[in-house]
Amino acid sequence: MPELAEVEFFRKEWNPGLDEEVVRVRLHENARIFRETSPALIRRRLRGQRFLSSFSHGKNLLFRFSGGAWLGGHLGMTGSLRSEPVVGFEPGKHDHLVLFLETVALVFCDPRMFGRIRFEVSGDQPPDWWRELPPEVSGKGFTKDRLFAFLQRRGKTPIKTLLLDQAMFPGIGNWMADEICWRLRWHPARPAGEVSEREAAELWKTVRLVARQALRVIGKDWSDPPDSWLFNHRWEKDHQCPRKGCGAELVRADLRGRTTCWCPRCQGETTLRTETR
Ligand SMILES: [Zn+2]
Repeated sequence: MPELAEVEFFRKEWNPGLDEEVVRVRLHENARIFRETSPALIRRRLRGQRFLSSFSHGKNLLFRFSGGAWLGGHLGMTGSLRSEPVVGFEPGKHDHLVLFLETVALVFCDPRMFGRIRFEVSGDQPPDWWRELPPEVSGKGFTKDRLFAFLQRRGKTPIKTLLLDQAMFPGIGNWMADEICWRLRWHPARPAGEVSEREAAELWKTVRLVARQALRVIGKDWSDPPDSWLFNHRWEKDHQCPRKGCGAELVRADLRGRTTCWCPRCQGETTLRTETR
């Protein structure tokens, strides 16, 4: 599932179409990605408009066109964006929305269709849904106080589960949540209520650091993160903790419905007890 860095990568995939005009719109009207918008409206209002700019926010995307038109949404589980040269391009089965510009075609592809397209004509202002998104973890609105209050409110929930809550951590997904717990040496099942105010500040710092690094590496050109991250080791056969001097075998287990990976030595229960006493 695309997380904030992958979403940022996909945003830029449509850049080759910037400043070009929409000549033709081709879409699959009954595709589930249009469940909350009108495909006819997209067709009618996008034709003849120029592609001006694009934005990403957590897992959400927004594309601005002339005429006050805004196309946005999210990629769900399997959505992806790409651009193709117009000449000779035939949309595939899962290319549910294709904007043919002057020289490039902008494609939204989504085999499983958990993604969602939104479309509004709202003038100079981005649509309401976009302006109501929670503060980004890399932004100013994501404060230590807000984070600590959130942990206190949800005191019985495992920290890993909370990190997936898009209302507080927009754009953080499964692998980033595991990476954050591993860097902090916290057991992923640790109840949020046990986190002290000082530790919440550590969490705040680590969330921002991992987000920044992911954007720099994956968001830029989909490079592999360095081997010093948990990321590269979580799916390997003889998956070993990459922390210097550790090398313990990583554990993978289900935690509240999500596969979770952690190091029993660095993030074990013993560490947990010592830290919370
Ligand atoms: Zn370890």
